[in-house]
Amino acid sequence: MKKIQMVDLQGQYQKIKDVVNTSFEEILNSSAYINGPYVKEFQSDLEKYLNVKHAIPCANGTDALQIAMMALGLKPGDEVITVDFTFAASVEVIGLLRLTPVLVDVEVDTFNMNIEALKRSITPKTKAIVPVHLFGQCANMEAILEIAKEHDLFVIEDNAQAIGANYTFSDGTVKKAGTIGHVGTTSFFPSKNLGCYGDGGAIFTDNDNLAHKLRGIVNHGMYKRYYHDVVGVNSRLDSLQAAVLKAKLPYLDSYCNTRKKAAEFYSNAFKDHPNIITPKISKFSTHVFHQYTLRITNQRRDELHKYLIDKNIPNAIYYPVPLHAQKAYKNSRYNEKDFTGTNQLVNEVISLPMHTELDAEQLNFISQAVLTFLNK
Ligand SMILES: *Cc1c(COP(=O)(O)O)cnc(C)c1O
Repeated sequence: MKKIQMVDLQGQYQKIKDVVNTSFEEILNSSAYINGPYVKEFQSDLEKYLNVKHAIPCANGTDALQIAMMALGLKPGDEVITVDFTFAASVEVIGLLRLTPVLVDVEVDTFNMNIEALKRSITPKTKAIVPVHLFGQCANMEAILEIAKEHDLFVIEDNAQAIGANYTFSDGTVKKAGTIGHVGTTSFFPSKNLGCYGDGGAIFTDNDNLAHKLRGIVNHGMYKRYYHDVVGVNSRLDSLQAAVLKAKLPYLDSYCNTRKKAAEFYSNAFKDHPNIITPKISKFSTHVFHQYTLRITNQRRDELHKYLIDKNIPNAIYYPVPLHAQKAYKNSRYNEKDFTGTNQLVNEVISLPMHTELDAEQLNFISQAVLTFLNK
């Protein structure tokens, strides 16, 4: 059996090696390292794939969130609502911009924003909502958009984990994750579903004015060289990364499909087990399985984690500490009883190896190891 890895990007590279190596050589020979033709080409391919008017490449998914918030004109003191159970990037940039983070609970079955908690958290100071499409499946965007409309709020989708997922509205309209809110962001970190060979990110919007602001902010607030109209940042996708992404984008749907097949294998192996809850798939969103995350309900999650490590099966706890309990983000206005979902999940979740190179033998070995431990 091949060595099991949490993430294995070698297989993908081997399949696109000739294209990537040729474009790298071309870039190295042309010295167009920044803003070369590959960046424009990838941007345009991505706009087509997502069916969105503007994709603005940038340096990483965290910058993408920060730049989106800057372009929306959010000001210190504005409250921005995001989820308590996610990677820290969203709350981090809210803090950096001196906005006020308001963390809300998630649903234990989908890991995504709890709509009732969202409603309770809105105050006259609320200016934006940042749903995170966690582990590869969209939050309840229809409900979130309705609430945003009612209270005149911006919706910024953190789509770092669900690029390629489709969201279906109740009237049958289908949109790509990341293109549903006023603005969407993503990350091309190597282990993401569409990953480059370094850091990368992008911002999406259908709004021409907003796109113009975003394009300025990523480039030091310049529209004309050395004329700075607004305060910006330096956040660029480089040509080498754009070349990798351009080569990979045509395969994104097949990557997502392979992940889904692996997830189906796992979920089938674990179905009906009394101590395991497999990922729930929402009615309104496809799931692209950035992570395959189980809930272990008999308080033996930590033991299972160690058991699997001993068997050389990598696995991870995403996420071990709720954001409201992190040293950097603690705040006396948070109340434990508002975070029953997250507080439960941090003790139950375990993510199994998930990538495009898992074979049946490995999936079977991993599943059997989980079952053997839980049936002991
Ligand atoms: C990875 C990730 C980010 C940050 O992306 P970087 O490119 O690493 O800055 C933001 N939000 C979520 C949910 C992520 O998973």
